[in-house]
Order: sequence, then structure tokens, then C-alpha cells
Amino acid sequence: MKKFTEASSAELKTMLRELQERYDAFCAQNLKLNMARGKPAPSQLDLSAPLMDKMNAYTLEDGTDARNYGILEGIPECRRLFGETLGIAPEQIIIGGNSSLNVMFDTLSFLCLFGTHGSMPWHYHKYSGHPVKFLCPVPGYDRHFKICEELGIEMIPVPLLDDGPDIEMVKKLAGEDPYIKGIWCVPLHSNPQGVCYSDPVVEQLASMETAAEDFRIFWDNAYGIHHIYEEVPLKNILDACSHFHNPDRAYYFFSTSKISFPGAGIALTASSLDNIKELKKHMSAQTIGHDKLNQLRHVQFFKSKENLKHHMELLAKQLRPKFDAVLDKLESNLEGSGLAKWSHPKGGYFVSLDTMPGCAKRTVELAKQAGVIMTEAGATYPYGKDPLDSNIRIAPTYPTLGELEQAIDIFTVCIQIAGIEKLLN
Ligand code: PLP
Repeated sequence: MKKFTEASSAELKTMLRELQERYDAFCAQNLKLNMARGKPAPSQLDLSAPLMDKMNAYTLEDGTDARNYGILEGIPECRRLFGETLGIAPEQIIIGGNSSLNVMFDTLSFLCLFGTHGSMPWHYHKYSGHPVKFLCPVPGYDRHFKICEELGIEMIPVPLLDDGPDIEMVKKLAGEDPYIKGIWCVPLHSNPQGVCYSDPVVEQLASMETAAEDFRIFWDNAYGIHHIYEEVPLKNILDACSHFHNPDRAYYFFSTSKISFPGAGIALTASSLDNIKELKKHMSAQTIGHDKLNQLRHVQFFKSKENLKHHMELLAKQLRPKFDAVLDKLESNLEGSGLAKWSHPKGGYFVSLDTMPGCAKRTVELAKQAGVIMTEAGATYPYGKDPLDSNIRIAPTYPTLGELEQAIDIFTVCIQIAGIEKLLN
């Protein structure tokens, strides 16, 4: 394909006319296609349908009746199953409710309200005129940014490179400013680009000098076993922090939202034993215990780390053709155009696409008018502000293959129209 950026304005005008005709034809079809949120397709959910079958027993391995109150930290067999899966000691795990985002919000709220291990509550700083700040690798997950906004934590964007956040920038910023108290990390198959953190990046995050003694890493390993094309290893952040004498630095989050059922799965947090003790103290004022029946259901269904891995392979088998379709279409419709570049994830839930600067909002708007709903442009940046107006997140999991191919055809026409409009301006 000829580079659009090298075409004459007469050529561009001709192309725009042709594209506009195709676009109008799409609009006339009154389509309703949604690639906005990373939701599993019904066929993915069907793989976990036996979870809804009648439970075969309510009694835990130690004889406890799971139907009754108690066991704040979660049932032992569930902590063990996910501990083995993630390489974390069960004692370092608390099974929470149905959403890891909820656990992240609570954990950050506890830090704002109570501080940690005797440090000042973070909101003390905020109300003394020094708002606490978090480093936010970008593009990133909009709901992380929303938590910070809600709690009045200022966000500092840091570029996410191919092997993790720009670690030199992270070290410099965290090393100098005592009000920078933490960083968001999605270390495997990140949302949206599918970046996987390298061992040196994990080690430097664990070992770096920070001006704040209560600096915390929010390690959201949401896609920790969600490999699609290739299994990617990840260094254990909790072990690394402990090794580098910063045992309390990281909170690890995980959930089965994209393994079993979003909103009806189980979530967990893991950390040092001291942090777990502190979290349990706060949680004990919040609840007598989470849903043990759901925890037990998950244990009865998955049984072992090996079965969980097999389940993830079945999910990957469903997702691979969808990701292939998106990547093939992007390549055939846009490769060489100079109008966009995109990620090639090995797993996770998204493809991230960068248009030419200044074209993302217009592209998403055009797509919406043609019946294709994308994630809002800007959503992948703190405060919804993408400084280059260029990043768009594509979520290929929910639509059927046919819908997806149609949606990407329309989307790429929108990218081309927005790009030509920009070049002609
Ligand atoms: N973390 C990341 C990085 C996500 O992409 C998502 C969902 O898209 C979540 C957390 C939500 O997790 P949960 O359903 O466990 O709250």
C-alpha cells in the first residue's frame, strides 16, 4: 500500500471520496457492533457453565461448613489452588469478593485512611496540601485511573515500553519525590498493549530506592495466565521485593473474572505476611468473610493448577481466531499506509492501536456514527487525556468472528478517513 503521507492532495481527495462512499454504505446498514469493553463472549462463559451445577458438598477439607460465617482470608483449599497456580505461598493470599478492582480500591483506600505500618495516612498529606501521587504507565487501564481520581491521588504518566514502564524515569521520579507513593502495573499482557514485563524491570521495581518509605507497587496481574499465542513467564514480584529487602512494597491482585465469570468469580490479593496481617485487620471491620460457597465452587470445578491451565488453553483456542482476524484485517487494510501502528499481543484481552497524532477522537466518532462502538479515545490515559490523541483500544473478545471482521473493516475505513482529513488540513 502506498504511504498516505506521501500522496499528493489530489490523490488524497480522490481516496477520500471513495472511502466516504464505502463509509456511507456502512452507515446505511444501521449496524450495532461493540468492541468497547473486554468482556468474554458467551461461548467462553459456557466453558465454566458446570460451576452453576448443584454443588457436590458444602464441607471444607477441614470439616468446616462453608455455608456459615467465617474464614475472613478465604478457604484454605482455594488459597492453595491459586497459590500453586501463581507461585505464591497460600499464607500470603487473601481471597476477596467477586472483583479484584474492588480489592484494589479497598487497599488504596486503607492506605489513604490509615497509612501502613505506622506511616502517615496518605490523605493526611493530601489535606496538608501535598496530594499523594501515583506513577501510571501509559497507555493503561482506565479503571485504575478512575480509582486514583476518586481518591484524589494525582497521576503522573510514564511511558510503557516493550518490556515494562520506562524504568529509568520511574526510578528518577520515585527516587526524588516523597509524595510519589506508588505505581500501577499490569505486568503480563497489559491492558491495552499486551506488554509483558522483563525480569530486569521487575527486579528494578523491587529494588529501586524510593523517596517515600511507604512506596507501593499495585501489581495487577489480571492476565497472569491468559496466554493466547505464547506462554510468557513473569518474575515473582513478591519474592523479588523480599529478596531486595523491600518485603512490604508490592500488593499483588488477581481474579477469575476472565477465567470463570466476570462479576461472579473470585478475586485475590497477595503480599508480605505483615501486609496481609494489616489488610486482614482492616477487612475484619468490613466483613465477617467473603463468599465461601463461590470459593468452594471454584475449587470443586477447577480442582488443580493443571486443570486451570487446560481451561485457559480452551479459552485461548476460542480467542486465537478473533485476535488473528483483527490483526490480519489491520494488516491488509492499513499496513504500509503510515496512518496507524498497532500491538501484536501474545495474550490478554486487547489490541492497542495508535493513529497518526490528532486522529483518535475523530476515528472513534466516525466509527460510532457507523454503528461500531469503540472504547472512548483518551480512556487509556489518566484523566481521559491522551496528549497525542492517538491511542485506541480494540477489544476483540465479545463479538462473533463475523461481527468482528465487519467491525474492523468499518474501523479501518474510519482511520483512513480521519487520517486523510488530517493530512488535507
Ligand atoms: N485489571 C485489569 C488490568 C483489567 O483489564 C480488568 C478488566 O478489564 C480488571 C482488572 C477487572 O478485574 P475484576 O473483574 O477482577 O474487577
